[in-house]
Amino acid sequence: MCGIVGYVGEQHPKEFLIDGLKKLEYRGYDSSGIAIKNSDNIQIIKSTGKISDLEDKVNNENLINSKLGIAHTRWATHGEANETNAHPHKVGRTTLVHNGIIENATDLKNKLVNEGVVFRSETDTEVACAVINNYYNGDPIKAITEAIKTLKGSYAFGILFEDQDKLYAVRKDSPLIVGIGEGENYIASDIAAIIKYTDKYMLLEDDEVVELTKDEVKVYKDGVKIDKEVQTSTMTIEDANKGNYKHFMLKEIMEEPIVLQRTLNKYINDMDKMVDISSYEEIHIVACGSALYAGMIGKCLLEEKANIKCMTECASEYRYKKIIYDRKTLVILVSQSGETADTIAAMRKAHEEGIDTLAIVNVKTSTIAREAKQTLFIEAGPEIAVATTKAYLLQVAMFSLIALKAAHSKGLEDNYNEILKEAKSLPDYLRKVLNDKDTFAGVGKEIKDARDAFYIGRGVDYAMCEEGSLKLKEVSYTHSDAYQAGELKHGTISLIEEGVPVFAIITNDKIKDKTESNVIEVESRQARIYTITNDPSIMNHHFKYVVEKLSDYFQPILIVPPLQLIGYYTALERGLDIDKPRNLAKSVTVE
Ligand code: GLU
Repeated sequence: MCGIVGYVGEQHPKEFLIDGLKKLEYRGYDSSGIAIKNSDNIQIIKSTGKISDLEDKVNNENLINSKLGIAHTRWATHGEANETNAHPHKVGRTTLVHNGIIENATDLKNKLVNEGVVFRSETDTEVACAVINNYYNGDPIKAITEAIKTLKGSYAFGILFEDQDKLYAVRKDSPLIVGIGEGENYIASDIAAIIKYTDKYMLLEDDEVVELTKDEVKVYKDGVKIDKEVQTSTMTIEDANKGNYKHFMLKEIMEEPIVLQRTLNKYINDMDKMVDISSYEEIHIVACGSALYAGMIGKCLLEEKANIKCMTECASEYRYKKIIYDRKTLVILVSQSGETADTIAAMRKAHEEGIDTLAIVNVKTSTIAREAKQTLFIEAGPEIAVATTKAYLLQVAMFSLIALKAAHSKGLEDNYNEILKEAKSLPDYLRKVLNDKDTFAGVGKEIKDARDAFYIGRGVDYAMCEEGSLKLKEVSYTHSDAYQAGELKHGTISLIEEGVPVFAIITNDKIKDKTESNVIEVESRQARIYTITNDPSIMNHHFKYVVEKLSDYFQPILIVPPLQLIGYYTALERGLDIDKPRNLAKSVTVE
């Protein structure tokens, strides 16, 4: 989460650093700062609030001449989000920025305080800075290599030493890449920050220390220089820009048909490429947030269609819980970024128990992609808005294909070929839904002042309700809850009063009458009903939107985008910072 950029080259680093931070804004942050240096001085400027506030401050300062600098967006874990705690931190001859958490910071700090080190901030980062500084004796590689042996937790560091005109970096369990330019080199949390300057980059493995000058990048492991492959990114500058859209969130929703096509194309003409999980007796789907809700749809499909026992669990629980692996089990991990800290921990726990893992991931260079036993990549491209839309949809599509393959392998799917044919038309059906975006803008207008909203459905419809509700909460700050439709009357119905929006998802023929009765229950308590269904015969109460009726495998792909658009337009009506909702980070790389 949050971000780091660093520059060494021939230009003043200011422009690169501020521009890079802006490209990383989507990752979420609460304060920011930069450090620039030349052989005589180091200048640190920090600010709370937006990058534009930092930019104003930087523009109003007399900047030193410089060709080297680091910058940071902080998402506070240790200490308030104020200017003192903002990075960079400087101790002695060492200045650094950090993403992650130093878990043994308190112990280390106590020792250092006894040795006379004075700390200015409450951060774990300043402690790490002091540790590196303690080891620094003119040899940066040695100091960093020794220091990281004493640090527990996760870190990506960008580091400057007072008497070195070079840039240093190291990472563990927190993302950081090295960008290779011409006459200049960079570090960045992700490729979006540097794609304007270069598409060439190196991936750093855990605890590899890198030294950058304008012409050279040297990587060390345990103090020994190693060779690293230079890779080329497929990201384009357009991917990192909003184009004609007001927000990345809307751009990314409207991209769904294209990315869906791209992802499906990999498999529907050759399902041999799809992983076959039919031999497993039990599946654990482990993820966080929207990825978990995608997994809940996967669970419904795997159980209903492929007859495989399946459970879903949020990764932050799974990693610490006693898990009984008494059958042939597969753990499926779902993460857009592939860097979600809790999901990584859950994966490693499964590996320690000798359990197979399969990851569904968007970022190919990520930790989960590299460590999972098998990985299925969704082809979402970069997702910049903090609230996921297109990546979530592709995670769902991936579960549809996994379930279809497993059901087919077990001889449980008679309509296999027709369903594959349906998959080919899916992007067009989806386009039709998205063309109705003004309809959902109208819903946003209607519910913009609502204090609460509820989403009800049964079975797979309930799983979609969870995602719809989360989207509304995340971006529009409207309190909302998702309920299994039959559960509502066991308590929550007391919250239904006149005009409260209730979204009912009804796609399942077998239980649609049951959900309809629940709808009538809340309507008779004056709720305002918005129904999204695949069945034109369902009654219209206040608002009804009907999508094409598809097989159970692919139906959710048409239902969720309207929910995403309703979240988006409600936030738009409320005039909120849609792409960067308060307190949220794009990839949660800390516990
Ligand atoms: N743990 C550090 C702090 O609270 C770094 C947080 C971050 O990743 O930005 O300052």
